[in-house]
Amino acid sequence: MTERVIPLADHRYASIVPLVPARPVVADGLVADRLGRPLHDLRISVTDRCNFRCSYCMPKEVFDKSYTFLPHASLLSFEEITRVARLFVAHGVRKIRLTGGEPLLRKNLEVLIEMLAGLRTDHGEPLDLTLTTNASLLARKAAALKAAGLKRVTVSLDGLDDAVFRRMNDVDFPVSEVLRGLDAAMEAGLGPIKVNMVVKRGTNDHEILPMARHFRGTPIVLRFIEYMDVGATNAWRMDEVLPSAEVRRRLQAEFPLEPLDPAAPGETAERWRYVDGRGEVGFISSVTQAFCRDCSRARLSTEGKLYLCLFASRGYDLRALLRGGASDDAIASAIGHIWQQRDDRYSERRGQPQPSPPVQGGRRIEMHYIGG
Ligand code: SAM
Ligand code: SF4
Ligand code: SF4
Repeated sequence: MTERVIPLADHRYASIVPLVPARPVVADGLVADRLGRPLHDLRISVTDRCNFRCSYCMPKEVFDKSYTFLPHASLLSFEEITRVARLFVAHGVRKIRLTGGEPLLRKNLEVLIEMLAGLRTDHGEPLDLTLTTNASLLARKAAALKAAGLKRVTVSLDGLDDAVFRRMNDVDFPVSEVLRGLDAAMEAGLGPIKVNMVVKRGTNDHEILPMARHFRGTPIVLRFIEYMDVGATNAWRMDEVLPSAEVRRRLQAEFPLEPLDPAAPGETAERWRYVDGRGEVGFISSVTQAFCRDCSRARLSTEGKLYLCLFASRGYDLRALLRGGASDDAIASAIGHIWQQRDDRYSERRGQPQPSPPVQGGRRIEMHYIGG
């Protein structure tokens, strides 16, 4: 396959139009990348916009009034998203996570959910369909999301103290509203619910124990995420990362924990449970303990670019194929071929010299653009 680099209308990130390989890659659910990793998860970003300005993701100074978000015509339509998702499912995807930006800001998201909920694996099974949200709109939307076919949600919440939370979302959003969203999600049956807390040393690490106390004894699984050097705008510093081992040590001083086996290969979180049986916690240690070896995640950006790694600096422009009249077989073949070439493992190589960006001017994608 030859690749063509095209200039982007807004010059946001480098992009490649995938050419369809001469020898088809049949979507038989068995495609593997160069490191033998299957294609099991697809994260779909449905918007690059957000109503929060978390400093580790969309710092206010960069994402201000003058920042240009993607124009509506650039976004994949629900029909386009569903068509691509179906082809990924044919390649073996079993789990789809909607993300963003803030996915609940995408208009009529329930319609997309209903369409994705109708997809089946080649064994006739429905997908594990989930969504990551800041929960600001969840109280209003939980019941409709469930009715549309969403299975469960993951909620991002970085602290319980209202002042700390307002500072972290940087738009003065109250924590009570997120907690109301969590209640609504529970009531609607959008479980098992996970809560993700990004821990920044010196900013919210004093919230670790209050968060653990709050969710202990509930069906909600709290997961601690190491602050990552994703993108190029969050002014990441290693000394602001609190390693998971330290988070666990602080928890264990109050609540004894024991390790659990992973629920599935490729799972990002290390699972532990309270010895007294009052629930489970998780640790996502992308900085101190890379988990690239089992990474089976592909990411589809809001305007239809396929990224093979969270730290990638170029995407494959599937929208060009979708809107260029390519057949399903041709697009599936292109996706399969791209996956077969994949050798990304950024986190494992962090700190070592990385392969230089293959495309001139290629800059690392931002979290709000590609989702978690
Ligand atoms: N807006 C939604 C939300 O916050 O849940 C979905 C998109 S957000 C980009 C997805 C996840 O990425 C969130 O859980 C967020 O906390 C996490 N995240 C964003 N920037 C991060 C960073 N620098 N390090 C670690 N996690 C990050
Ligand atoms: Fe928005 Fe989520 Fe990024 Fe926070 S982490 S700014 S809620 S996209
Ligand atoms: Fe997967 Fe890239 Fe993260 Fe490694 S760094 S786990 S390859 S997304």
